Amino acid sequence: MKPAPFDYRAVGSPQEAVSALAERPGEARVLAGGQSLVLEMNYRRERPKLLVDINGISELERIEEEGGVLWVGALVRHRDFEEPVSADPLGRLLSRVSRYIGHPPIRTRGTMAGSLAYAHPVAEWPAVAVALDAGIELLGPDGPRAVSAGDFFLRPFATACRPGEMITGVRLPLLGENSGVGFAEQRRTQASFALVAAVATLTVEDGTITAARIGLAGVAGRPIRAREAEEYLLGSPLSAEAFAEAGRRAVRETDPLPEPHAGVAYRRHAVGVLAGRALEQAAADLEGRA
Ligand SMILES: Cc1cc2nc3c(=O)[nH]c(=O)nc-3n(C[C@H](O)[C@H](O)[C@H](O)COP(=O)(O)OP(=O)(O)OC[C@H]3O[C@@H](n4cnc5c(N)ncnc54)[C@H](O)[C@@H]3O)c2cc1C
Repeated sequence: MKPAPFDYRAVGSPQEAVSALAERPGEARVLAGGQSLVLEMNYRRERPKLLVDINGISELERIEEEGGVLWVGALVRHRDFEEPVSADPLGRLLSRVSRYIGHPPIRTRGTMAGSLAYAHPVAEWPAVAVALDAGIELLGPDGPRAVSAGDFFLRPFATACRPGEMITGVRLPLLGENSGVGFAEQRRTQASFALVAAVATLTVEDGTITAARIGLAGVAGRPIRAREAEEYLLGSPLSAEAFAEAGRRAVRETDPLPEPHAGVAYRRHAVGVLAGRALEQAAADLEGRA
């Protein structure tokens, strides 16, 4: 199908984008990579009256590392992460995860910020953002504001980004040298969306775990953190038994929605296995075995 008629405006700065969005309150959409929006428009599930094309805003293509944070501009594409963008373990995590998103043409156009704004419940970047407690930077008619990833995702395809606002960047905390990272996902084919995915990071001092982060996708209407499993790991050595037990605890924190390709019981089982695997991978990464 073809999209419903719409107006198009290319803008050159975030301020210009916000002014353009304000011209059609609630009826304008930001166009970033277009890899989800154009599809939604072709199915006519989205019928924006105005597309505000932000692809000409070169300042949003930047990635910067400063003060313990990696700042990712709203036009950084999935593919830009394929080679690590930071020497911090975070660079390896983003690189690993990016390769699971769709296939190369999707990764070449699609953006991290667009994926966060779209808020697909099994998308990879939202799970990473929640696991890392990322900050989502927004700009709107009332100026800039930031929302933590834990508060950003409300339910499938719904976020705290208000009509008239746009994401300008994402702040991801660096993990530090004593950290390892892991990612595991179950999907039907190599280019399919995940059925379930798990992100894990571990930080270790003197042989024991001092910080653990587990982000899960596909087990609730929005990405979640497995807090009980994370707490269980604190003070533990890196051990396969501890990771398996953390996986079992993560299952208790899930509430999957029914989905045609993978039932609730299947996804609850899968997430326990995948969380355990992501933790194993994080341990191997820490020990230089990954
Ligand atoms: C065949 C196929 C396979 C895919 N597989 C996967 C997959 O495995 N994993 C995955 O995560 N994704 C997958 N995707 C989706 C892909 O990752 C998209 O790139 C992503 O969801 C949206 O990013 P985008 O930059 O293309 O955004 P767009 O399509 O341009 O926009 C998507 C939505 O976000 C809004 N938006 C975009 N940028 C901003 C911004 N800066 N501020 C405010 N709102 C904004 C738009 O208005 C729109 O509502 C797939 C897509 C296709 C077509």
